[in-house]
Amino acid sequence: MPVDTPGGRDVLFSPWRYDYLVSDKSDSGCIFCEAAAGGREDDSLVVYRGRKVFVILNRYPYTNGHVMVAPYAHEGSLSASGQETLLELISTIARAEKILTRTYHTDGLNIGVNLGAAAGAGIANHYHVHVVPRWKGDTNFMTVAAGVRVVPEELSSTRARLAPLFAESAS
Ligand SMILES: [Zn+2]
Repeated sequence: MPVDTPGGRDVLFSPWRYDYLVSDKSDSGCIFCEAAAGGREDDSLVVYRGRKVFVILNRYPYTNGHVMVAPYAHEGSLSASGQETLLELISTIARAEKILTRTYHTDGLNIGVNLGAAAGAGIANHYHVHVVPRWKGDTNFMTVAAGVRVVPEELSSTRARLAPLFAESAS
């Protein structure tokens, strides 16, 4: 599975490429801008809207509870964001850490960002930080077969589970 992994042995890096591999390259629109604007079907994946950043489910989750934290602004790198955005970004990631750890009883989390297509970013011009729940031994049963990843929980269920928790902890 981790065929193109930097270092060649850590499965941690391979999920970041998955959305790119399966995404529709013919659509020139930015899924994060569309989701941020709302109105389209992507809106159903948004679980939290902050002031500068929002949290959205990955449509092709690596594990249950896989979310991404992204700025509303169409920015391609962390250094392009202002201080206010960066502060909210990291605090929202920390909030996601707490919520996912409690909700999914994780053994760990992968938190990472790919900057640029060469680093594996599917949407290269709008950065997003992946927060992926992990469990001991999960790589043994989570495999990709014929391009379809087996994730037991429906996205709608994930959203129903997480959205109230983000809303709650924001107040
Ligand atoms: Zn964008």
